[in-house]
Amino acid sequence: MGADNFLTPKAIANRIKAKGLQKLRWYCQMCEKQCRDENGFKCHCASEGHLRQMQLFAESPHKFMNTYSQEFQQEFMKLLSRRYGTRRVHANLVYQEYISDRHHLHMNSTHWQSLSEFVKHLGREGLCEVDETPKGWFIKWIDRSPETLAKQEAIQRKERMERTDEERTQKALEEQIKKAQEQAAEQEQEATELKRDTAEEPIKLQLKTTFASKPFKKFEPKKLNALAMASKKTATPATSSRAPENGGTSSTDLVGKKVSAVEQIIQDELARKRKGPPGGFSFSQRDEKKRR
Ligand SMILES: [Zn+2]
Repeated sequence: MGADNFLTPKAIANRIKAKGLQKLRWYCQMCEKQCRDENGFKCHCASEGHLRQMQLFAESPHKFMNTYSQEFQQEFMKLLSRRYGTRRVHANLVYQEYISDRHHLHMNSTHWQSLSEFVKHLGREGLCEVDETPKGWFIKWIDRSPETLAKQEAIQRKERMERTDEERTQKALEEQIKKAQEQAAEQEQEATELKRDTAEEPIKLQLKTTFASKPFKKFEPKKLNALAMASKKTATPATSSRAPENGGTSSTDLVGKKVSAVEQIIQDELARKRKGPPGGFSFSQRDEKKRR
């Protein structure tokens, strides 16, 4: 729509008809004059004052349009924020209240051809949360005043601090739980050890076998070594009969009682084999050798 015929009665009438706002029909925004009927409006449009205003408007239509649009938006938002705050409200309800002021800035002098267009503009500009329903457009003011922003910032800061406090407490609590669990585990271990000491017969036996198995485990490689040593010495015929016995005693000193006893038997057996024909094994034979 061109700026030249924007405020002609026909143009205004057409816009108002489209919006169904008959009441606003005979209003001249440039002169801020409300006429009672079509005839009155016609007379006004022919008046000297109106023509002067229209000349001004024609010189810089965009400037007027921008000023009117700005003012319309400001007044509308002022009403919305004061009357409804940040509550969601039907856009038309706010508009009806807005136009109930006889000297309100009329929307037909703004960029916006209809209320829904204006509402969409508010949504685009981030001034309101807007949503369209079958019942029409709803708007919700977004409070961006410095005080509110400062308040929100303070709340967020407080929440952040509370969060870190909470995290710290949580961490300390977790550490305490961990420590307690470790202590509990230690105590349990002590308890089981005690139980074994004062346990019934089968458990005692089990403990004995495990303890007894230890020297045998240690002994096995030694036994192999002793056998290897013995076989080496038997392979070389130039060795004296005492040599294996001496080697045996030195190795038996290193190991426990049981090892020495077994090794003694092996060595005795080897010595016996070297000396003469196989015969019965007796303690007297071993005693004789020991005496020698
Ligand atoms: Zn006028």
